[in-house]
Amino acid sequence: MSIASSLRLVRDTLPSGVELVAVSKFHPVEALREAYDAGQRVFGESRVQELVAKAGELPGDIRWHFIGHLQTNKVRQLLTVYVDTVESVDSIRLLKLIDSEASRAGRRVNVMLQVHVAKEETKFGFAPDELVDELTAEVVSSLRCVKITGLMGMASNTDDEERVSADFAAIAEVHCRLAADVMAGFPEFCQLSMGMSHDYHIALRHGATMVRIGTDIFGNREY
Ligand SMILES: *Cc1c(COP(=O)(O)O)cnc(C)c1O
Repeated sequence: MSIASSLRLVRDTLPSGVELVAVSKFHPVEALREAYDAGQRVFGESRVQELVAKAGELPGDIRWHFIGHLQTNKVRQLLTVYVDTVESVDSIRLLKLIDSEASRAGRRVNVMLQVHVAKEETKFGFAPDELVDELTAEVVSSLRCVKITGLMGMASNTDDEERVSADFAAIAEVHCRLAADVMAGFPEFCQLSMGMSHDYHIALRHGATMVRIGTDIFGNREY
């Protein structure tokens, strides 16, 4: 099936108002262009160099989302291109660094905080209680160029639907806690980025407003 038809199939399953991030990591620029020509404007990449290279070859109205682990020494390079949202902010240190680098570059950047609930040990992100503790009013009010638009998270990589469901529910719950507390005065804190090709139908049931889908659009990746 063509990328355009896969994209249409995925779009048709999404409720209106849910943002589709087309995860194009490891796929060639031609594949992204095909999706772009079919109307897709939001793309997700997980490596800084790859995002920067692709952004240089594709139209300027693409809204790039960074979704991978971001090393502090790569923040400056990432901000050389128009990155709409860094979805994978996994420490307060990184949050503050993105803010100061954005300020230095005269840019504004949206960020999402990554919550870790999955049982895999290797995934990055804040544990729910850790995030509630560390994201203080002082931290939030210190940000100048960064807007926190929501939370991003992944469920455990398992066929156990109940486990996946519980993981998404846990991410949504942290969002509620923060929205009622430290983020109460920030209406832009309204996004929940959860769900990938194999589990986004479950994420939608838990209030995902943004889904990150690669394989269902572009096919399998070559690693
Ligand atoms: C690769 C990736 C996705 C997309 O995964 P698919 O299974 O290909 O849909 C979503 N989110 C993150 C953080 C990823 O790294």
